[in-house]
Amino acid sequence: MSPSFYNTFISKAPLNPINKKHDFTVFSNMRGMDYFHSVKLNSLVDLPIYSGGLGVLAGDTLKSAADLKYTFLAVGILWNKGYILQKACYHFGQETTEFNWEPKHYPGLVPLKKRIELYIGKERVILRLWKYYVFSQDRQHAVPLILLDSNVEGNSPTNRKLTDRLYNSKSEWWKIVQRKVLGVGGIRAIQALGYEVDTYHLNEGHAAFAFVEMAKQAPADRWEDIKSHFAYTCHTPVKAGHDRLPVSELKNVLDPQELGISQQLGSEEVNSNTVNLTLLALNAAHKANAVSEKHEEVTKIQFPNHVKKIRGITNGIHHLTWVADSMAELFDLYNEELGAWRKNPEQLKNILNLKKNQRFKTDLWEAHQVNKRSLVKWLSPWLLEENVFTIAWARRAASYKRPELLLYDLTRLEEIARKVGCLQIIFAGKAHPKDLAGAHSIKSILEKIDSLSGKRDYLKILYLEDYDTHVGKKLVCGVDAWLNNPLPPFEASGTSGMKAILNGVPQLSTRDGWIAEADENVGIIFGYVPEKGEIGMETNFRVEEDANSLYNALDEMARIYKEAAAGG
Ligand SMILES: *Cc1c(COP(=O)(O)O)cnc(C)c1O
Repeated sequence: MSPSFYNTFISKAPLNPINKKHDFTVFSNMRGMDYFHSVKLNSLVDLPIYSGGLGVLAGDTLKSAADLKYTFLAVGILWNKGYILQKACYHFGQETTEFNWEPKHYPGLVPLKKRIELYIGKERVILRLWKYYVFSQDRQHAVPLILLDSNVEGNSPTNRKLTDRLYNSKSEWWKIVQRKVLGVGGIRAIQALGYEVDTYHLNEGHAAFAFVEMAKQAPADRWEDIKSHFAYTCHTPVKAGHDRLPVSELKNVLDPQELGISQQLGSEEVNSNTVNLTLLALNAAHKANAVSEKHEEVTKIQFPNHVKKIRGITNGIHHLTWVADSMAELFDLYNEELGAWRKNPEQLKNILNLKKNQRFKTDLWEAHQVNKRSLVKWLSPWLLEENVFTIAWARRAASYKRPELLLYDLTRLEEIARKVGCLQIIFAGKAHPKDLAGAHSIKSILEKIDSLSGKRDYLKILYLEDYDTHVGKKLVCGVDAWLNNPLPPFEASGTSGMKAILNGVPQLSTRDGWIAEADENVGIIFGYVPEKGEIGMETNFRVEEDANSLYNALDEMARIYKEAAAGG
């Protein structure tokens, strides 16, 4: 019996070691020690079918749907090799390897008898279906997750690998195939299993071929009716998040009818040689969601022809997954003010009424210290200190998130650290294997960390390998401030900061995503803010100006921390 922190399924069977979370090492400016130690983990790995925020959000959505007893079904792909396993390597940056796990021995994941088929070009491919129940917190309700898998006998060796790796980016062909498996395979799986669906939700353009499959099964005069059963959520304004698939490659995967429908709804202009999946999804759905108020504004500017159907629904997190035990106990203690916060997380808003309550403040500080001690202990070979101001930057190393901003001016950073006595910084995050800029950022961060070897008395910097939900939870609970410095307005929502604030950890953030609509007391907000109605360029990083405002904000936050710590 060894549940992962994220999945509540508990199995009596012993855990197959291949499904255990990998121990990982740390790269730090405490060199000499790094090689000899690793962070030991003894839990089930969370289902390795996500890369970052989009997948974690999908998981949180399922958990909340189960809690709320919704009639709900989710469809995804069983990635036989997960996403990637990351190692930090001096001089090289990140090294990525295959992620090995064994679906057959994963507690709660069961293969179904039913199989479905689809064509990839001229080849018939069989898909096995897996089922996994996501339980509600009280375990009285569950929602099924159906996962599609091409790794079955009867398929050619190449076709067995179609569902190997999430975001396999070897070529456009792979991208198209993976999207066809999800969209077309997804609809066929739902139908084969006999589920009756009222609303199909396309989570990102990745799933857009689901509409194509439905449209294909009906005469064109029924399309409007089908559209009224489709909703779509767009998750990013960043260019790399919108698939433009070449028609020349689509021809090798889709049949002529599928291609025709895709072009009809997804061409940006007549005779276009690409199909834009965002456009396809926008045209296929009667409702299109953006993921924050700010993102609604941006999405409407980006897609002026669809303004009427676009609305913002701000992302959220599954609070019971991300709240630390110590915080949950604190909230229970103040149940007069916070009421049934587990069932109704909105009650947590009433925490504002406790602002002047000295006893609450002391209790909150102590609840936080419990989490911080746990983080310090977890990373004990690196000798972090409980009473030193600690911040984390942990997210995908995508360029618009500006991974290196904090290390832009090391002299200034050292100055701030010396002023407060000592500063502890934790980095974590993977770059997509095709994202050379992101990989370069990681390499550069490691080099800068190494260059600070002589400064460890007042500046301790760690890079944690293989950022995932497990590492994420430790960090969002245990640090003193959560650093979030994307270039506005390119962070559509962001959710890691929500996990931090739920645990009483303040934000050190640019004004972007959910932060733009949050109470300004969530932390210190700094940096560039675009004019209303302006998007700007995602390649103009404004590093110098924003690094400077980041340092000012950090300086202020460190001062506040010191005062608070001194006050008990
Ligand atoms: C929450 C979470 C994210 C999303 O973080 P952002 O702030 O949206 O970048 C990414 N990865 C993991 C592992 C998470 O837990």
